[in-house]
Amino acid sequence: MAEVQTDSVAKIRGEQIVVEDVEALRQSYQQLYIAVEQSPAATAITDVRGRIEFVNQRFLDVTGYAREELIGQTPAMIQSGETPPEVYRDLWQTLSAGRVWQGELLNRRKSGELYWEYEVITPVRNDAGEVVNFVAVKEDITERKRQESELKLMATAFETGQATLITDGEMRIERANQAFTDITGYREHEVLGKTPRIFKSGRHSREFYAELWDALLGTGHWQGEIWNRNKYGEIYPLWQSITAVYDDAGRIRHFVSVFHNIAERKRMEDELARQATRDHLTGVCNRRAFDAALQEAVWRAEASGERFSLLIFDIDHFKRINDRHGHDTGDAILKQLAARVADNLRSTDLLARWGGEEFTILLPDTRRRGTQTFAERLRGQIAEMRLHGLRVTISMGLTEYRPGDDMDSMLARADEALYRAKSAGRNRVVADEAAPC
Ligand code: GH3
Ligand code: MG
Ligand code: MG
Repeated sequence: MAEVQTDSVAKIRGEQIVVEDVEALRQSYQQLYIAVEQSPAATAITDVRGRIEFVNQRFLDVTGYAREELIGQTPAMIQSGETPPEVYRDLWQTLSAGRVWQGELLNRRKSGELYWEYEVITPVRNDAGEVVNFVAVKEDITERKRQESELKLMATAFETGQATLITDGEMRIERANQAFTDITGYREHEVLGKTPRIFKSGRHSREFYAELWDALLGTGHWQGEIWNRNKYGEIYPLWQSITAVYDDAGRIRHFVSVFHNIAERKRMEDELARQATRDHLTGVCNRRAFDAALQEAVWRAEASGERFSLLIFDIDHFKRINDRHGHDTGDAILKQLAARVADNLRSTDLLARWGGEEFTILLPDTRRRGTQTFAERLRGQIAEMRLHGLRVTISMGLTEYRPGDDMDSMLARADEALYRAKSAGRNRVVADEAAPC
């Protein structure tokens, strides 16, 4: 029986149907029918004019139509109108020429939902070689298309977003984008297979990297400020965020590092911090910065017995200068005076504009006598020179730190000495009353 069946099938394929084997033929058709009906590929057979004669179950599942709704109709039923017309032109030209067509079509389910199909349409010929049917076998590629467009989107985001570096689980670089090149100077091919150690600036301690790794391996994430070195050897600050990517088994497969250059932000922060401690007119320290430094010096003196001195000076008859030459000239003199005084200081001394035309100088590691010598020399120099073409003199009061002092007591003593310098005729230096022995 099995033999007869095989024989009959062979003859069916050869289009020589042996009529005596009707039963075998019926069974073969049955098998073929079941195979097509149960095929996971949506299948349709049309006549030469495109009218649907047969659709399998999968076709019904995909399109959402019932068989009765489709038979006798054309595939226009499921066309979305969104497939470019040239695709259909190519399809009909190919089929009319009796050739197999394959391509992608964007169709519409009964529900209105769009879906992508990959179709192979084969013309079927009769004995005489005429095309009598078309068989269309389709695969739903909506998901693949969605993944493709998602990948395209991610690739675009990767290329146009922040500087990004992707490594494998051993930190070997696998991908880097254009923004990465813009910041680091390295092109992707120059860093592939290397580890981010090549960016190390040498500015961070072992502990810094140990903490970074602790966080990264412990929580899967680290972010913070980090100094790196670019291709040209320059060191720059980054804000960097590193995230571990795990596989299903919980092993780290990748690290994704996103960063941006914060050099400009840091420069602005530094400038703001600098401005906050500077006097706008003269550029020397302001009173706030001086107070902080004086407080610091008092604490150091208390802790270590370090000796230091404090000087206050005030321009003589400055009101008169303003009145005679104008406020702008007064301002110019203040600027020049500050610059000349600053020229005479050691790097550890601190000059501040205390207010108006009154200045203070903090002299670390300096005793009363040394301060007096310095102050006398400075007063003499100022008196000799011309500031904005004018002769200007200053009066100075000084004091040295004494155990038990606080900021205010020192300032009061220096101020008192300055007052006495003024009273004694100006253009002179007066030290505070010597401490009682
Ligand atoms: P003395 O010798 O007693 O110090 O006399 P003086 O005229 O300098 O008196 P005083 O120190 O009390 O006066 C300070 C004057 O300094 C008052 C003000 O007109 C001037 N002054 C204060 N701040 C500024 C400033 O920022 N620019 C200018 N041009 N003048 C200032
Ligand atoms: Mg004055
Ligand atoms: Mg004054």
